[in-house]
Amino acid sequence: MGKIITIGEILVEIMAMETGNGFKTAIPLIGPFASGAPAIFIDQVAKLGQPCGIISAVGQDDFGALNVERLRRDGVDVSAIGMHPTAATGSAFVRYRPDGNRDFIFNIKHSACSAIGLTPEAEKLIETANHLHIMGSALVSEGIISLIRAAIAHIKAKGGTISFDPNIRKEIFELPGMRAALDHALQNTDLFMPSGPEILLFSKAADEKEAIAELLDRGIKAIVVKRGANGASYFDSAGEAFAPAFKVDEVDPTGAGDSFGAAFVTCWLRGMEPRKALIIANATGARAVGVKGPMEGTSTMAEIEAFLAKHRETA
Ligand code: ATP
Ligand code: MG
Repeated sequence: MGKIITIGEILVEIMAMETGNGFKTAIPLIGPFASGAPAIFIDQVAKLGQPCGIISAVGQDDFGALNVERLRRDGVDVSAIGMHPTAATGSAFVRYRPDGNRDFIFNIKHSACSAIGLTPEAEKLIETANHLHIMGSALVSEGIISLIRAAIAHIKAKGGTISFDPNIRKEIFELPGMRAALDHALQNTDLFMPSGPEILLFSKAADEKEAIAELLDRGIKAIVVKRGANGASYFDSAGEAFAPAFKVDEVDPTGAGDSFGAAFVTCWLRGMEPRKALIIANATGARAVGVKGPMEGTSTMAEIEAFLAKHRETA
C-alpha cells in the first residue's frame, strides 16, 4: 500500500465553552485538544490503516507530547516530527460566534512550527512516500514552502501523486510568497480539494462550473468540492458524481474538512470508484462534526461502516 505524507502545523486547540465574540473577558475554556489541519488529516489516514507520516515540529512541552503520543498511537509515522529546543508547541484559541463563524488567536508562525524544514528525518520520510497531501494552511514560512517544493519534486519524479486542499484563511494571502506557493502546488496537483467557492480563487472563471472545466483543462486529474452540510461533488474528464451529506447534529465543525479529505484521498489511492469514496468521506466528515474537539472525531473503517449501516436503516 502506498504511503501518504503531509507537511505542516501541529497545534493544540483550546476552545471557549460558550458561544460569543472574542476573548476580551475571562470565559470558561476547554482543552488542550490535539489539532492542526495537517495533523488531523494524517491521523484520519492512519485510522483507516494506510501507511502514513507527517513532517512537523513541536516544542519540548506537554502540548507537543499530547500530539505526538496521539499520532503515534493511531499509527502515524512520527519520525519526522522535530523538536524545537526552545519554542513552545503551536496553539490556537477558538471561540464560536452565535452565527457559527469563529474567532481564532493563533500562535503558529513563532511557535515550534517555525522549525519545520527539510531535516534529515524529513528527507528520509519523503524517500518512503508515494503520495503528498498539501494543506494550504501550512504554507506560512519560506522554510515550509521550500520543503513542500522539494517533496513535490521528489514524489513526482518517482511517479507518485499529489493532493491539495487550499484550506485558505484570509491571513494567508497577506504572507509574502504565498500566492506563488499556492500556484506551484496547484500546478503539480493530481487531486484538488477546495471548499465551495474557494475554487474561484484558483481560476479566472466566474462560476464553479467554468472553474472546474478550466482546472481539468490545465491538467488536474480530479477535483472534489466540499460543500459542508450539502455534501460533496467529484469531477474528472470522464464525468462527475455527487453525494449528499448525512444528517447529523453539528457539535463542532473543526476538522470535518481535514477528516473528509483524508478519507477521500485514501479511498482514491486504493482505486475506489468516486461516488463510493464520496460516501465514505461524507460519513467521515459527518462523524467529525458530531464530536467536540478537532481530532476527537476521526474514525476507523469499522466506525465508518457502522455509521453507514445505521444511516441506511434510518434513511
Ligand atoms: P474546514 O472548516 O474544516 O476547513 P471544509 O470547508 O474544508 O471545512 P466542509 O465542507 O465544511 O469542509 O466539510 C467537509 C465535509 O464534512 C462535507 O463535505 C460533509 O461531507 C461533511 N460535513 C461538514 N459539515 C457537515 C454537517 N453539518 N453535517 C453533515 N456533514 C457535514
Ligand atoms: Mg478545510
